[in-house]
Amino acid sequence: MASPAAPFRPPLQLSPPVPKLEPLTSRHVAVIGAGPAGLVAARELGREGHRVVVFERGDQVGGTWVYTPEVESDPLGLDPRRAVVHSSLYESLRTNLPREIMGFLDFPFVAREDDKERDSRRFPGHREVLEYLKEFAREFGVEEMVRFKTEVVHAGVVESNGGDVNKWEVRSKKRSGVKVDEIFDAVVVCNGHYSQPRIAQFPGIEKWPGKQIHSHNYRVPEPFRDQVVVLIGTSSSAGDISLDIAGIAKEVHVVFRSIADEKLGKHPVHDNMWLHPMIKSVHRDGSVVFMDDSVIFADVILHCTGYALYFLAGDRERVWIGVHRYKYHFPFLETNGIVTEDDDRVGPLYKHVFPPAFAPCLSFVGLPMKVIPFTVCELQSKWIAGTLSDRILLPSKENMMEDINNFYSTLEVSGTPKRHTHNLSNDPFEYGDWLAVQCGCPSYEEWRKQMFYAVARVKKAQPEKFRDVWDYQDLISQAHHDFAKYLPNKVNKYGDKKLISW
Ligand SMILES: Cc1cc2nc3c(=O)[nH]c(=O)nc-3n(C[C@H](O)[C@H](O)[C@H](O)COP(=O)(O)OP(=O)(O)OC[C@H]3O[C@@H](n4cnc5c(N)ncnc54)[C@H](O)[C@@H]3O)c2cc1C
Repeated sequence: MASPAAPFRPPLQLSPPVPKLEPLTSRHVAVIGAGPAGLVAARELGREGHRVVVFERGDQVGGTWVYTPEVESDPLGLDPRRAVVHSSLYESLRTNLPREIMGFLDFPFVAREDDKERDSRRFPGHREVLEYLKEFAREFGVEEMVRFKTEVVHAGVVESNGGDVNKWEVRSKKRSGVKVDEIFDAVVVCNGHYSQPRIAQFPGIEKWPGKQIHSHNYRVPEPFRDQVVVLIGTSSSAGDISLDIAGIAKEVHVVFRSIADEKLGKHPVHDNMWLHPMIKSVHRDGSVVFMDDSVIFADVILHCTGYALYFLAGDRERVWIGVHRYKYHFPFLETNGIVTEDDDRVGPLYKHVFPPAFAPCLSFVGLPMKVIPFTVCELQSKWIAGTLSDRILLPSKENMMEDINNFYSTLEVSGTPKRHTHNLSNDPFEYGDWLAVQCGCPSYEEWRKQMFYAVARVKKAQPEKFRDVWDYQDLISQAHHDFAKYLPNKVNKYGDKKLISW
């Protein structure tokens, strides 16, 4: 969702698509991860004629959308020795976007009224999203490209010819422990970025006697029964989880980084919920002091405070440097220090995708935040596939570096923190439009943009009910009118046009 305090972004220069070059090059490409980003990357690479292997450490496609009741041994998700659970989904999670705009651009996420097991709501539960992703993988033959239960433990450049041609060694490890080294022409990193919790810091936390948990390890409200809970955060997840636990907890105290004074205090609707400014300190006696000096005694602090990017870190190799902080070290991605992660900026990356030194043979899909994730992954993947086949030309390495440096300077001048480098909330569609121009493919339809902003408005006005008070039938009709050109396959497959919900 676009946030009102969106960081400043320099406008993207729209340039015409680069003409096709013949013959096209076919490369051997490793895709790391089979979540939405990896699935659509594999499809686009396959369409372009590349030979693709997708490495997935889980046992099915879907990434984040594979719900598991399992949680990590460290509820804060900080212990470097813990077994990492990838998905952060909680049982009650419904999408925060309507299905019409959430799905891939050319594979509409339509309701399957024919199947009673399916969730036909406009903002469906997480299982419906997983079903959709599985359908996508089957429809485009992506499943056959995936090596399941196979984790990439090393991906490093092994050969460079004046910087233009490089080969990548990918070491993968099966669950059985067997390791395999292979050489690829290119690596596409699609490993997601919602598994490494970010924790709020405040004085006294080391001695505070209560429990702490990050929302990454929240699944169901039951453990919070009769507890006094302090919940930090204002994201979609924070909103959902606060309502989830309000039904069962004794008290829920929601903490905001910034909130108007008049909104502080008792929640207007929920009797057992209060709104507070940030925590000032916590104490050995269990007290929590807020910035306005109000005090409560709590059993649990629940951090709904987001995630850190961690492409460049192997789980076992992080170095503990103090309470709740890590220094990232020994990455699975070995780029001789050329690509780095610094305060959530992965860079240098040309348009959030290509490190110039290795372009187009190393790329990242899915880094941009505050966008419509599936569609951005799709457009990025088309761009990557086209550049790898030499159908689309990138600027020279020097020009890409210059563009990146200009971008970073603009962020600095506008006071935008590094950690917002990949936050595109300033204009969630401009970037996708730019990618579409590069690829010479259709971009976002007008109804999609309007629907996105309409949802944001409804959500702001009715945050607790926005998923169920939808009233934009004209936009829905336009969406389904446009979907008609993509649906024939689906209709043929299931044999009955009436099965598709309009
Ligand atoms: C709580 C929550 C709610 C969300 N709600 C929405 C929503 O409503 N709508 C929406 O559009 N988006 C939502 N998102 C964003 C969501 O992350 C994206 O929809 C999408 O899942 C991102 O896809 P991805 O492929 O980049 O990453 P992921 O889905 O995380 O997939 C990454 C995959 O890479 C694999 N992997 C990681 N490392 C390795 C390795 N070394 N070797 C092999 N495999 C590896 C993982 O096992 C995983 O399968 C939500 C995210 C969260 C956390």
